Amino acid sequence: MIKKVSFFLLFAVLLGGCKKDQVGPLNGSVDDAAFNEYEKHFLDEFWKLNPDWGTSEGYHKYDSILLIPDKKYREKLVNFAKVQLDSLGRYTPASFLQTNKMDYAIIQNQMNYTQWQIQQLKQYEWDPSAYNVIGSFAYILNEHYAPLAKRLNSFYEKMANVPAYYKEAEKDLKNPVVELTNLAIDQHLGGLSVFEGDFADSLKKTNIPEATKKLMLDRAKLSADAVRAYTEFLKNLKNDHPRSFRLGKDLYEEKFKFEIQSSKTAQQIFNAAVERKGFIHHEMAKLSVKLWPKYFGKTPMPADTLDLIGRMIDTLSATHVKPGEFQSAIVNQLPKLNAFVTQKDLFTLDPTKPLEVRKEPGYMAGVVGASMSSPGPYDAGQNAYFNVGSLAGWSPEKAESYLREYNQYVLQILCIHEAIPGHYVQLVYANKAPSMIKSVFGSTATVEGWAVYSEQMMLDNGFGDNSPEMWLMWYKWNLRSVCNTILDYSVHCLNMPKQTAMTLLTREAFQQQAEADGKWKRVSVSSVQLTSYYTGYKEITDLREDWKSKAGDQYKLKNFNEKFLSYGNSPVKLIRDAMMAREVPVKH
Ligand code: ZN
Ligand code: ZN
Repeated sequence: MIKKVSFFLLFAVLLGGCKKDQVGPLNGSVDDAAFNEYEKHFLDEFWKLNPDWGTSEGYHKYDSILLIPDKKYREKLVNFAKVQLDSLGRYTPASFLQTNKMDYAIIQNQMNYTQWQIQQLKQYEWDPSAYNVIGSFAYILNEHYAPLAKRLNSFYEKMANVPAYYKEAEKDLKNPVVELTNLAIDQHLGGLSVFEGDFADSLKKTNIPEATKKLMLDRAKLSADAVRAYTEFLKNLKNDHPRSFRLGKDLYEEKFKFEIQSSKTAQQIFNAAVERKGFIHHEMAKLSVKLWPKYFGKTPMPADTLDLIGRMIDTLSATHVKPGEFQSAIVNQLPKLNAFVTQKDLFTLDPTKPLEVRKEPGYMAGVVGASMSSPGPYDAGQNAYFNVGSLAGWSPEKAESYLREYNQYVLQILCIHEAIPGHYVQLVYANKAPSMIKSVFGSTATVEGWAVYSEQMMLDNGFGDNSPEMWLMWYKWNLRSVCNTILDYSVHCLNMPKQTAMTLLTREAFQQQAEADGKWKRVSVSSVQLTSYYTGYKEITDLREDWKSKAGDQYKLKNFNEKFLSYGNSPVKLIRDAMMAREVPVKH
């Protein structure tokens, strides 16, 4: 108790000390106030230029607008970024409150990223899937943020530009990547129902006059035609010299810098991941040797270590719930996680914000077994939901394979990752000190890294009774993040052939063939994103170790967790600057 009090006192004193020298008065300086005004103005201008993005963040002022992605538009974006960078140059962020310092760095990164994307990456020339209006229309149709008639009207007005939008796309594409061309065709054909069926179904539920309905349906038909014509265009495109789907080292490093916002380079993270893989294999082998007699008695152990681990994982995967009990198993897990977190004093959980579990809404069905739906930053008052899919209607083989993957052990890890104390707890803390900039442009590495970090933190504190089974399955799960990083970097920067990639996933990461196939598909149509889990996990874990040695005997895990989460989705490197800036020893 005494320890805890002195810890807080120490920080209170230091905070006061810091404030005087570095960050002005408690509520921010005149500069801070001016910067906060600037931020508001910046965001409104930003949404005007990125209305689709705004819609998905819950900013609905420009829902009815679809901008044509032409050269003029791109010039506007580049110019906007230049103006913002000039504006930022007029401030002295060193004098800002910590939170504003972070916002400043995040906006600056975002504006440099915008310029780089248009001037260097030029995805608009080679990625046909970069053009897609369907997601935005589906969002307007499916999310109940406004009355249906109002949303349908935005939908209708926004459709006016759909044909021109795709005409422009056809004009700008040059030697596109084949994999991305096929992806674009699949996504557009798969999404056609939004214009061909869903919109009409929704119209029926309103009392919009028949004549108006007819106009609206005619326009939906034109939109569907435009989407279909785009897929035909892509199918018939003469493309003798397509660009490779591999991004190449130079573009990759730059993209990693802007998107992951890590203090390390992609190559450094890759090297760390390779090392981590070796460590995990070593730990898994020790656990498997320990578990072998319990499950296999006197049967001789396979001589090959990876075979040994594979056999153990295969055996443990057989312990899983029945298809009909998948949802209830997840629901039952949550109070246990709550109780554990409280008992071990890892966080103070806000009892007024209970997590709502719901059956996965129809339009998400079949995508994932469980996921979090977080309200956009502009709807922060709305509920967060833990969506749980049902396996009803699945073939027995498909259900069995899925349930083996999400076996008794992994199911618990999944609940930690998605809910407590993973994504859901993080969201509750982030909403306590809402920052639009951090929510919208923050780092996915922080969000995913936190969820992965929280799995290990729970196990370190004895969740799952420290059983070797639980640890072995967690290592397999953690190995997935690690191998995602290795795979992404190797494929995009080191020309790793498909066959080598498959061996990495199936043999070294113990994945089923179907999972490995899916991962190969993902790495051939995306880059950098797959590294976010491991990068964030590593940076958070490293930060905690450094913070711990600095705090010495004042260290308390709960304080680290809560302090870290108080910075929202800021990149870990900025959180590190803030957390390590406070000198612990007070010298007189
Ligand atoms: Zn089974
Ligand atoms: Zn996640």
